[in-house]
Amino acid sequence: MLDQPPLTNLQTRDVESLIHPYTPLHKLKSTGTLIMQRGEGVHVFDTQGRGYIEGMSGLWCAGLGFGDEEMIEAATEQLRTLPYYHIFSAKSIEPAIELAEKLKEIAPVPISKVFFTSSGSEANDTQVKLAWYMNNARGRPNKKKIISRIKAYHGVTVMSASLTGLPGNHNGWDLPVDRVLHTDCPHFYRFGAEGESEAEFTARMAKSLRELIEREGPDTIAAMIAEPVMGAGGVIVPPKGYFEAIQAVLDEHDIILISDEVITGFGRTGNWWGSQTLNMKPKTISTAKQLTSAYAPLGAVMVPEDIYQSYVDHSAQLGTFGHGFTYGGHPLGCALGVKAIEIYQKRDIIGHVRKLMPLFESRMKRLAEHPLVGEARYCGFVGGAELVADKKTRRPFDPKQGVGPQTAKLIENNGAVLRAIGDTIAICPPMIIREDELNELFDRFEKGLNEAEAWVSKEGLR
Ligand code: PMP
Repeated sequence: MLDQPPLTNLQTRDVESLIHPYTPLHKLKSTGTLIMQRGEGVHVFDTQGRGYIEGMSGLWCAGLGFGDEEMIEAATEQLRTLPYYHIFSAKSIEPAIELAEKLKEIAPVPISKVFFTSSGSEANDTQVKLAWYMNNARGRPNKKKIISRIKAYHGVTVMSASLTGLPGNHNGWDLPVDRVLHTDCPHFYRFGAEGESEAEFTARMAKSLRELIEREGPDTIAAMIAEPVMGAGGVIVPPKGYFEAIQAVLDEHDIILISDEVITGFGRTGNWWGSQTLNMKPKTISTAKQLTSAYAPLGAVMVPEDIYQSYVDHSAQLGTFGHGFTYGGHPLGCALGVKAIEIYQKRDIIGHVRKLMPLFESRMKRLAEHPLVGEARYCGFVGGAELVADKKTRRPFDPKQGVGPQTAKLIENNGAVLRAIGDTIAICPPMIIREDELNELFDRFEKGLNEAEAWVSKEGLR
């Protein structure tokens, strides 16, 4: 372990009063937290005045960076006009109407209606309920199971955490609940068999999905949910042809594909949607995060007309559509969503991402050469460098050694915030980052990696 300075007064107040998500709570009293105070462009500054490049866009969400004046103005104006109203019981507000219209315009597949939530977890929870509701409406009450994937991340509510395919979200939480199935993770580097080609691996993924569906019974399965690029599972980019192969199996059995675009929406992969980059043809879509560029919480579920009609039919039978969140369609979130999309369009943020993608790619490829890095994977403007004890055999470190988190800490000490997902260091910079800033971010990443390599050698962790 690296040396820790004593906690400041604010750090002590923090550990005395907050429960921190995704944090080893048993270590918190000795490690303390890094307390951020303000942000500007792609930089954040802590309470000690130290600056960092925010190389993760916070939690993969602050695509426009910090302190965007147009966003601040849009928020202020909305707060002055109508800080809160809802869209329950046949009420509505203009920002929600406008944002739904914009989403329909830019959606990658035909979308006719939008349901707003406050978060990605709520969006995915809603997806499951809507799939059940749809199949009840269509007289198929047994077609209810949802397929997800090992290492997927879909959120932390009871159902979305069940869809998530990570042990940390299941162990100790009595999850997953039933009606949730997990199929294989399409990570060729980790799960490809010896001598297997990527095409053979992809065919095996489709085969195991087919076997799962046949074993469970196609008439019991409503939907499959998938992130175009798996984010919080370790930035896993599926092999070419993966979604085409998967989708052919789903189509045979009338199982809808839900694309979880919570990270991959709004330019992150170099297109508006990850579905476009990965050649996915989903029926419905979940989104959040860059929907407002994280200036306010907001999530959305987007559905096509035929599915929407099933809700209309069912609510006619039942009397109402019994689902909705107090803050789903919050005016602040919706006004900021409208403004964020307007900015993405008028400043050509996606064009900017595309322009810098070759640099991002070349810097990721350079990371792949580092002695600690087994695989450096990326798609558009999101990447992950997986640290290994042995590059040749791909042998991982013992997770108890905490090599990933320590490496992230060393990178942080060099002035860049990145995120350790186990031993994969994720990078997901604000989409507005300039070329010199992106180079500086990778330079700091490499400096931290070099220090981690020295530390690993010194401690004899291999
Ligand atoms: N889906 C994906 C793909 C995500 O990455 C996340 C959050 N990292 C979620 C869903 C959950 O979103 P939230 O944290 O807003 O509930």
